Amino acid sequence: AVPLVVAVSTSLSARNGLLIRNRASFERSRNLDAIIFDKTGTLTEGKFGVTDTVSLNSEYTADEILKYAASLESYSEHPIAKGVVESAKDRYDVENFKSLPGRGVKGKINQHDVMVVSQAYLKEINNDVTDKSIEKLFSQGKTMVFLTVDNVVVGAIALADIIREESKEAVTNFKSMGIRCIMITGDRKEVAEWVAKEVGVDQYYAEILPEDKAIKIHEIQSEGLVVAMTGDGINDAPALAQADLGIAIGAGTDVAIEAGDVVLVRSNPLDAVYIIKLAKSTYRKMF
Ligand code: ADP
Ligand code: MG
Repeated sequence: AVPLVVAVSTSLSARNGLLIRNRASFERSRNLDAIIFDKTGTLTEGKFGVTDTVSLNSEYTADEILKYAASLESYSEHPIAKGVVESAKDRYDVENFKSLPGRGVKGKINQHDVMVVSQAYLKEINNDVTDKSIEKLFSQGKTMVFLTVDNVVVGAIALADIIREESKEAVTNFKSMGIRCIMITGDRKEVAEWVAKEVGVDQYYAEILPEDKAIKIHEIQSEGLVVAMTGDGINDAPALAQADLGIAIGAGTDVAIEAGDVVLVRSNPLDAVYIIKLAKSTYRKMF
């Protein structure tokens, strides 16, 4: 049988837009020491708009770069992908589409091998770009992705996202409860630094690959801390599973929701504060 207090809390939480999928994790979260936030789609809305398109090869115009990129991105669920697709007028046919979580996407277009990827991934495959116009966009805190055709970098696309209105208040609330707030992202340091400062987290990690997000959480747990992770993407799923409490953003991908112990139905980070308060009051009453 379900203890009465828990039953009451569960219906309370349902009314407040929380879905508790794993009761044991929910109970453990009353002793929470640290919370890790994914950036894109979690602290930010994950609604990207293209601000600039840079041609790095005279054979490709800005429109052509967007068309190639949008063709691949139409197969991706990533927030960046949605922004790119919206900005392009039309698309090419794609074969052999493949998603590279935390890195980008690739496929075949017009017999060419095409990729839209992060600069970190370009470095990984020894194919970096340096260009003044790109450095300038990075310094403005823009998220940047690069288009390669047959392994030649031919263009760059800059995008901007919006920080969720409630993120700062959520972080302030967690800090006042004595809970350490950490941000983790696959994005570049400049973007991470800007968001971290805006929302007031205690520390942040940038350019972290999906598999390394879970490793970071394990490291923090090894200090004897009870850790929650909140995220929205396929790339966050291993970290959500690793955390003592995985909090999935309701508007996120199915993979993240499946990996979460709790789902924030309204995608509001303040509901994450509410869940910890609820866990504390529920189990205080019981024991
Ligand atoms: P975050 O941790 O902030 O949610 P991700 O791990 O999802 O970010 O992505 C990290 C980086 O990988 C992005 O900033 C981007 O450069 C690149 N990336 C991921 N998915 C895509 C995609 N569909 N298209 C282009 N680039 C992508
Ligand atoms: Mg994300």
